[in-house]
Amino acid sequence: MLSITSSEYNRKVSIVGAGYVGASIAYALMIKELTREIVMIDINKKTVDAEVMDIRHGIPYMGSTIIYNGEYHDINDSDLIIVTAGRNRRSGEERLDMAADNIRIARNVAIKIEKYYTKGVILLVSNPVDVITYKMNEWLGLPNGMIFGTGCILDSSRFVNVLADYLKIGTDVINAQIIGEHGASQVPLWSKVTVAGIPLIEYCDAIELPFSGVEKHKIESVVLNRGTEIIEGKGKTHYGIATCVCYLADAILNKRPTIASVTSVLDGEYGIYDVSLSLPSIINYQGVERRLADRLNDYELTKLKESSKQLESICQKSS
Ligand code: NAD
Repeated sequence: MLSITSSEYNRKVSIVGAGYVGASIAYALMIKELTREIVMIDINKKTVDAEVMDIRHGIPYMGSTIIYNGEYHDINDSDLIIVTAGRNRRSGEERLDMAADNIRIARNVAIKIEKYYTKGVILLVSNPVDVITYKMNEWLGLPNGMIFGTGCILDSSRFVNVLADYLKIGTDVINAQIIGEHGASQVPLWSKVTVAGIPLIEYCDAIELPFSGVEKHKIESVVLNRGTEIIEGKGKTHYGIATCVCYLADAILNKRPTIASVTSVLDGEYGIYDVSLSLPSIINYQGVERRLADRLNDYELTKLKESSKQLESICQKSS
């Protein structure tokens, strides 16, 4: 067990982009008391002022985080920089449709980060998150893994939720991951789903629940469309991703290594190079320490390579 010294509680997080996602992340970090200090940066001063005030007004009753609105120079000395700047997905759009607009915004953010960066992990949330992660790595050139994106952690969480509903069991006993693109070409790892350590197919046999290609297909399609459903209902998604970011922030800030399906630039895993996509990865205080490339079945491997080709073409097309 790693010990935490008092200085390790004195953490600083910068959040670039104080829209729905950025503000929800700040709120969740504050409630969970995961950091000592949060600075929020946004080109829209009115938004960031209002969000900071609103979050601060709960602090006398819960938490003690110091939260303030800042400028880009305030990112210096951060242990974690979270980037959520960028426009949101419109109804009917795929995430990759936002690439041009959000790459432009990310480039501006990267220029500012480069100027004031002193240390810390950079965690990307803005979509299309695989492409933005790839670009940030290209522009900032930090060691592989120090810049990574939330990728399929949210999709994996949705996968677990949908499975839990189907199996009528709690989410805490289900282990299930989605890899590849955070988007349409994502790959659910059916061959590795377990319930309390029991392979899914055996578990379904044991409780006499039907489980075939039909159920798989239905579950996959519900998981894939969850984000769209939420956007059709309220125009944005932010709570789910904010909680996922807090989970990753805890691993980084408090040295609690974990494994999650996040996006980082591959370096030969499954024969794939120079593209950012999600694989289950060990995350520690320096970001992605290692990507796990264990054995996939032929179908999953083919799908992963298709996903990688799709992302590669977008990354290489965009300047
Ligand atoms: P939003 O429009 O509410 O907020 C975006 C904020 O970014 C705005 O306040 C805007 O002023 C700010 N901004 C724009 N350019 C900036 C710059 N150069 N510097 C600083 N701030 C800047 O959008 P949102 O709902 O918060 O979503 C933000 C991003 O997160 C979107 O790209 C969305 O698709 C993405 N998202 C990702 C996931 C995921 O799983 N990775 C989930 C949900 C949303």
